[in-house]
Amino acid sequence: MKIGYELKHMETALKLAKYALDHGETPVACIFVHEPTNSVVAFGMNDTNKSRSGTSHAEFMGIAQILELQKKDEFPEHAIRFEDITLYVTVEPCIMCASAVQQIGIKKVIFGCGNDRFGGNGSVLSIQQDSYVVLPGILRKEAVLMLRNFYVMENDHAPEPRTKTNRKLDLQEFPPIPWKNYISEIDFKDTFGETAYREKYNSLEDLISDEKDIKWDLLEGRYDDILEILDSQITQKFTYKKQCIVKKA
Ligand SMILES: [Zn+2]
Repeated sequence: MKIGYELKHMETALKLAKYALDHGETPVACIFVHEPTNSVVAFGMNDTNKSRSGTSHAEFMGIAQILELQKKDEFPEHAIRFEDITLYVTVEPCIMCASAVQQIGIKKVIFGCGNDRFGGNGSVLSIQQDSYVVLPGILRKEAVLMLRNFYVMENDHAPEPRTKTNRKLDLQEFPPIPWKNYISEIDFKDTFGETAYREKYNSLEDLISDEKDIKWDLLEGRYDDILEILDSQITQKFTYKKQCIVKKA
């Protein structure tokens, strides 16, 4: 498999989703990675419950943060450009968000699980067409399990997500993943390799077949400081960059 740091970034997005889950929101979250520096520039979580706004999707929160960063930048030639950004989101963007991504010019979207009802990157519509690249299925099982925990909590009115004792229940079944809806055969081979292609693509199987490879920490850990961590990473990275520019000038 040719993917490496993609897993790391998706782990961060899933930690944010877990944070959302622990705070009564739908566990859907995203981060925006600036490719030239391989660093997070913005992040978002669903806020539809608290804000009671149907448009408070994770992606919009992150886009707003990037626009703020661009506005603050006194050196427009060094401003963060949308075309240099990859969006990592735990669940396939909905049609509205997939369109927003296209309009602002983001070039790559990486997501965990599909969004059967509203997905704009292959499940319902394929908004991306020739405008940006889509890579599905990264830590998909973790993303699915995160959503399942949310629905179980809602039904049981449980304040805490279920933990280890329920692992077996969680593993009942994973829906097949219709790879061809999201990614071409060529791109799949190129990204995940020939072996994965032969074993997974047409049999609609997940990238991770062994249960023990599921990253349970992401589902069971607490990440209450994730917002502070990301905020300080972003501030440090981009304030530092600006200081360098000021010195040179
Ligand atoms: Zn959306």
